[in-house]
Amino acid sequence: MPTYDDQNIFARILRGEMPNDTVAETDHTLAFRDIRPQAPVHILVIPKGKYVSYDDFAANAPDAEIVDFHRTLARVAAQAGVSLDKGKGFRAITNAGENGVQEVPHFHMHILGGAPMGRMIC
Ligand code: IMP
Repeated sequence: MPTYDDQNIFARILRGEMPNDTVAETDHTLAFRDIRPQAPVHILVIPKGKYVSYDDFAANAPDAEIVDFHRTLARVAAQAGVSLDKGKGFRAITNAGENGVQEVPHFHMHILGGAPMGRMIC
């Protein structure tokens, strides 16, 4: 696992060094709008803990952080009107490492919705 880089942009957002458009916050999780939206709804959900990628988070985060992360993601999707009870659904994805084309090395999931997302390659 790569070493966590404390200077990555999401670490700086969590330290309050960078502005962000927060939509939800809990003790363990932050959700904010993507600065370059690729869909009408494009929100990033991040744990406050220092995890490089999905595999780091899933293997090493305490259960309480993992549960809070997923519950917050579902709540944010509902608040944004894209959950199945409020809207027409969404895509939740994470990119990991070089082949996943991960730009920011702090684990995050993208919530994408508000329009059909198209088929993925797999
Ligand atoms: P990745 O490829 O999954 O790592 O995607 C990183 C995402 O972070 C991209 O969609 C960027 O547009 C987004 N991003 C980068 N910097 C910021 C920021 O300062 N605020 C909000 N989103 C950002």
